[in-house]
Amino acid sequence: MQIGDVTVEPLTDGVIPMPPNLLYPDVPLPVWQALPGVLDGRGMLQVPFGGFLATDRWGHRVVFDLGGGLAPQLLPDGELPPVCELLPRRLAELGCPPDSVTDVVLSHLHIDHVGWASTAGVATFPRARHHIHAADWRHFVDEDADDAVRDKVAPLRDAAVLWQGDAVTPYDWLRLVHAPGHTPGASVALIGSRGQSLALVGDLFHHPAALDHPHWRCGFDWDPSAAAAARADWVDKLRAAGTPLVGPHFPELRPVTLR
Ligand SMILES: [Zn+2]
Repeated sequence: MQIGDVTVEPLTDGVIPMPPNLLYPDVPLPVWQALPGVLDGRGMLQVPFGGFLATDRWGHRVVFDLGGGLAPQLLPDGELPPVCELLPRRLAELGCPPDSVTDVVLSHLHIDHVGWASTAGVATFPRARHHIHAADWRHFVDEDADDAVRDKVAPLRDAAVLWQGDAVTPYDWLRLVHAPGHTPGASVALIGSRGQSLALVGDLFHHPAALDHPHWRCGFDWDPSAAAAARADWVDKLRAAGTPLVGPHFPELRPVTLR
């Protein structure tokens, strides 16, 4: 994807087969079954996890979300996903070694987004500034929301740029906007350059089918009513702006334009 001066590439780390009611516990299965081509033969969603690499023409390399990482315990039964650990290889294919990454942006600190934050206690991207909303750092690192997340993220303490408030602008073309609900510090990354735009929405939406139903409760939301309000707000904003959106769980990590 070319957004003005910025090139955006999907970075798949893996794929997890998931029953749709794990993501959306209140949505009856027939609703999913009625959507053509969404469920596989076993009635599962094939849910990717990973992130995106944005490269600007000044040589900045910004990775958005870091997948599940090495040997992730992502499934409810603690098993490994059948497809995982692809993200470093994908970056290598794109000619992007870890020490060339200038920035990492974490949409939120759930385990399937911070997996490659560190490897054996050492930051995987040694020269990158890691942009994290302070509310998520507080919740997941200073408090004890999730031990696995804290193990992955705590080694970033010196490399973390903890931002506060409603929004921050790391580069002219990049704005991070606080969108709490899924987690306390969840955020949306808006890429805009030369009149073109793209929103990287993190887990505001896990599947494009939910774009028509922002009130669908996600089973992993920290504050369900705040999350529903954030989803409804962003759908309106992105539709009005004509900005395509994509999240690291969208099929094939493909952007969707709201009509
Ligand atoms: Zn996620």
